[in-house]
Amino acid sequence: MKFNDSFLEILAAKVVAGERVSVDEALKLFLSKDILGLGYLANELRKQKVGDVVTFVGNYHICYSNICINNCKYCIFSRKPGDADAFSLSLAEIEALAEESKQNEVPEILILGGIHPELRFQFFIEALARIKMRVPEIKILGFSPIEIDHFSRQENISIDEVFDILQPAGLSAITGGGAEIFSPRIRADLGCADKLGGEQWLRVMEAAHRHDVYSNASMLYGAGETYGERIQHLQAIRELQDKTGKFTHFLPFAFSQADYPQTTGYDDLKMIAISRIFLDNFTHIRAYWSHLGLPGAQLALAFGADDLNGLKQKGRIIHSSGGGLPKAVERSVMIAVIKDAGRIPAERDILFNIIKVYN
Ligand code: SF4
Repeated sequence: MKFNDSFLEILAAKVVAGERVSVDEALKLFLSKDILGLGYLANELRKQKVGDVVTFVGNYHICYSNICINNCKYCIFSRKPGDADAFSLSLAEIEALAEESKQNEVPEILILGGIHPELRFQFFIEALARIKMRVPEIKILGFSPIEIDHFSRQENISIDEVFDILQPAGLSAITGGGAEIFSPRIRADLGCADKLGGEQWLRVMEAAHRHDVYSNASMLYGAGETYGERIQHLQAIRELQDKTGKFTHFLPFAFSQADYPQTTGYDDLKMIAISRIFLDNFTHIRAYWSHLGLPGAQLALAFGADDLNGLKQKGRIIHSSGGGLPKAVERSVMIAVIKDAGRIPAERDILFNIIKVYN
């Protein structure tokens, strides 16, 4: 491959030989106009690390409530108590959805919601127990650091004590929700300055990993941050992964609001490629099809991504700050999209163990 950017050509030789990209070099990657060169390098690293398999997970979402005490400015999901479309599921309803998930033959249930003003920690412990009672073999991915921190404050126990209880109750992994971007400036602008800050988010993740509760790491981009702020976020994630090794994958996702400039396809692909190049201690980089669309996610597979997220089957669908409501995709469509990109589809579990390969 002939690079159009001489810096990229020099860096590529180092990186392919296993050298780590520095913060200064990462900035040059963001400033590079050689998008095909970036993609080529990221794709080579992806091949080195995981070969041609592209994973996805069959998961079933249970959103226990959309009521939230926080006021993140661009959240289109949360409601206040008394709002006409506010809802909260009972334990019996959660149990019924867990039972229903059996029809979809999924290895994972994702349980999420807002920060509810009244639901106590005991409710969630019971919810995990009821899910496990209905589908004992299922892996539960649940809660974000925001919810974990809330449980700790609500019950006046440490974060470690929260995991001491949730892990044996059946929690296998937590989500990377609430990371947004660690820059306090952008968090303030997004109206989530009162929410858990970046340092505390990282502390919750470290505690989770100490308890063998895995998680993903994520980053919201395109919310007015500088490239430097993106790199600071990536650097903090890379440092924690060096320490624990229990982030299963990294997911960059674009900020998307009607009254805000949308990210470009160029920026989306660059973000995927630089994630692959900079995060040398991550095996998996996920392209978030809910934001990129399936065609965009398919392209991202040529720019370093090797995972296409979940099918999001049924249940109630969770928000993300700044995101639209994601849609479900059929297993057969996911398989066709991956095959069309010349790659090998494989269904995985939460921990990226391969369950089935679709040759
Ligand atoms: S993004 Fe999460 S924490 Fe913020 S208001 Fe929405 S549900 Fe609540």
